[in-house]
Amino acid sequence: MQTQLADFIRETPEGREADAILRKCVHCGFCTATCPTYQVLGDDLDSPRGRIYLIKRALEGAPLSGKTRLHLDRCLTCRACETTCPSGVRYGRLVDIGRAVVEARTRRAPWDRLRRAVLAFGLPRRALFTAALRLGQLVGMAPETRRGGAWPAARHARKMLVLRGCVQPALAPSINSAAARVLDRAGVSLLEVPGAGCCGGIRFHLNDQEAGRDDMRALIDAWWPMVAGRETEAIVMTASGCGVTVKDYVHLLATDSTYRGKAERISELTADLCEVIRPEDLPQGKSQGRIAFHSPCTLQHGQQLRGKVEALLTRVGYELVPVRDAHLCCGSAGTYSLLQPQIAGELRARKLAALEEGAPRAIATANIGCLTHLQAATATPLRHWIELIDAALA
Ligand code: SF4
Ligand code: SF4
Repeated sequence: MQTQLADFIRETPEGREADAILRKCVHCGFCTATCPTYQVLGDDLDSPRGRIYLIKRALEGAPLSGKTRLHLDRCLTCRACETTCPSGVRYGRLVDIGRAVVEARTRRAPWDRLRRAVLAFGLPRRALFTAALRLGQLVGMAPETRRGGAWPAARHARKMLVLRGCVQPALAPSINSAAARVLDRAGVSLLEVPGAGCCGGIRFHLNDQEAGRDDMRALIDAWWPMVAGRETEAIVMTASGCGVTVKDYVHLLATDSTYRGKAERISELTADLCEVIRPEDLPQGKSQGRIAFHSPCTLQHGQQLRGKVEALLTRVGYELVPVRDAHLCCGSAGTYSLLQPQIAGELRARKLAALEEGAPRAIATANIGCLTHLQAATATPLRHWIELIDAALA
C-alpha cells in the first residue's frame, strides 16, 4: 500500500513503525473472513481492511471525526486478522498507534469520557475493585468470589514469579493457588510479589496509553529486586490478557531510556502458564469427563499459543469436545464488553452456542475476562484450565 504520512508523525518512531506496517498490506481482504466485528456488522469499515484504511488516512493528516473513532472503538483487538493475514501485517501494533492519534485529535462526548475515566481509575486499583465487587455481591449483582485453597510453602530450589494482577485476585484467587499447587508437584515454587498490580493493559487499551505505561513501570519496579537477584527462572501469567501485554513491554517501553533494558528482560522472562508445564510433568489420567476449551484471543492470536492447554487437559484425562469457529472472540476483550455491550453480547451468544454444542460438563478457558463474561450467560460451569487440572490431580 502506498503511503504519504503527514509531517506530525512521519519522522517519529511510531510513524516509521506504522508506515512499515501499512506498506505490507496489499488490501486483499483475506482478514475480513475471520474478523468478528465484520461478521456481526457487515460493514467494511468494521473489518481489519477498513480500519487499516481509516488509520492510514488519519496518519496522512485527513480530517477526523467521531465516526473514525467509532470504527476503531468497535475493534476488539482480538488480532484474529494477524493470524489470517498472508502478508504478516502487524495489525495490533498499527491499531495502537492509530488509536493514540485519533484519540488526541477528536473529542469524546462527556458521558463517554466519564465512563472511561471511571473504568481506568477503578479497575487497575485492586483495593478499590475488590470493595466495589463486595458491594455488588452484597446486592446480588456481581459474581461470587472463587476462594483460593491452600498455597504450598516455597520449598523448591526452582522458583517462578506469578503475576497477581488487579481484578483476578478479587474474582478468583483460586486460579493462582491452583497454579501454585500444580507447579509444586512439578518441583517449582510459585511466588507472588504483593506490590505487583495491574500489567497496564487496562489503561493502555482504554487509550490512556501513558497511564498504562506508568502501570507497566510500577510493575517492573515491584518485580525487579527478584529479577535482578536471579531469584526467579520465569514470570508466569495465569491470565492470557496480561501475558500478551507483559510480553510486549519490550516494544511498549522501547523509547523509554530508563526502562527499556528492564522491559526487555521482563518480556524475555514472561511465559504463559501453559508454556511452563509440560504434559510429561503431569500424571496420565482418564475419565475426567467431556469439557470444551475456549482459547482466548490473547492466547491463540496475541501469543500464538495453540494446542498446549489442550494437550495438558487431555494428559490428565479430560475429553475435549470439538468447538466450531474456535478462532472467534467471545466478546469480552478487556473493557470491551462494558463499552460495546451489544456487539459483545452477540459474540458471547454465538460463542456459547458453539462451545455447548458438544454438551460439555464444563468449559475451560485461560483468561479471567473471558471466564466471567461467558459465565454471566450460561449455567455450564466456567473454569480456568489450571483449576480443572488441579481438580484432576487432587
Ligand atoms: S491486513 Fe493482510 S489480509 Fe488484511 S487486507 Fe491487508 S494484506 Fe490482506
Ligand atoms: S483485531 Fe479482531 S476485531 Fe479488530 S480488526 Fe482484527 S479481527 Fe477485527
